[in-house]
Amino acid sequence: MTAPVLEVRDLRIAFPTRTGDFARPVDGVSFILHRGETLALVGESGCGKTLTSLALLRLVPAPGRIEPGSRLDFEGRDIMGLDADELRAIRGKDIAMVFQDPMSSLNPVFTAGAQIIETIKAHESESTKAARDRALGLLREVGISDPELRIDQYPHEMSGGMRQRVMIAMALATEPGVLIADEPTTALDVTVQAQILEILDRLREIRGLAVLLITHDLGIVANRADRVAVMYAGRIVEEASTRTLFEAPSHPYTQGLLESVPRLTGPVQSLKPIPGTVPDPARWPAGCRFHPRCPKVMARCRAEDPSRLALADGHHMACWLAEETAR
Ligand code: SF4
Repeated sequence: MTAPVLEVRDLRIAFPTRTGDFARPVDGVSFILHRGETLALVGESGCGKTLTSLALLRLVPAPGRIEPGSRLDFEGRDIMGLDADELRAIRGKDIAMVFQDPMSSLNPVFTAGAQIIETIKAHESESTKAARDRALGLLREVGISDPELRIDQYPHEMSGGMRQRVMIAMALATEPGVLIADEPTTALDVTVQAQILEILDRLREIRGLAVLLITHDLGIVANRADRVAVMYAGRIVEEASTRTLFEAPSHPYTQGLLESVPRLTGPVQSLKPIPGTVPDPARWPAGCRFHPRCPKVMARCRAEDPSRLALADGHHMACWLAEETAR
């Protein structure tokens, strides 16, 4: 396997609370991402996945801060050590982002074309004509029909799926090495969802992009990601190839997530929601953070925090059951 394009080690993000304490919604996240692969970061709302993705561009909203000791490397460069100009050069150029709601990310008073052209010219010294030609090519690449017409349309003249395609075209305008797609299909209907995921997949293959797909929906991950990292309460609790994760989910939280996804094949079964909610990051439970919701909780889980153990090559989990499995 090639050297990682992105490497995250022990990422911690803290927010001050009113009591003078700190909440840590991201608390020791580590993963690597290789060129040409899709890693899905999956978990319920509030588990810290979006904050993790914002941290990769040092965009954690104030008063939050990335804590000392966190390591973020892009192609061997320490993102935490970059100054404002170097950071600006990386944002959008080397690491691009596609957000959940294209309507709030696109500027309603500029045409789709103007926004793509502006992105190109912000990073490269191209003439407006050359940038427009590239914008047309990008619109074609993301499957927009009649790009000569669409390039001069405003966001409100487009459907949700088309706006999301424009967002992807903008993200690709500077030929980034990493694309972060944060819930890119949540606001779209099922057929458009599939088309957008198809586009991301094709671009990953053709351009050798590294894609970090952030989602709460394990269902969309099955055929789209090479690896899956499951997040719970600010940490990755299980990481494996997508196939292993679906065939042999080992962490009780991953098992619960899979049992709550509807299946089209096999016998009809009622869905089993995971009881309770993600805990407050200012008051993570002692021991294993999943213990108040875990159907397999043991006495040890309430007192001791499980460390990450390897179950097999590339398959890790943070759960005391891993010791028994290993035995
Ligand atoms: Fe459940 Fe214990 Fe494993 Fe936590 S460590 S997931 S509480 S079995």
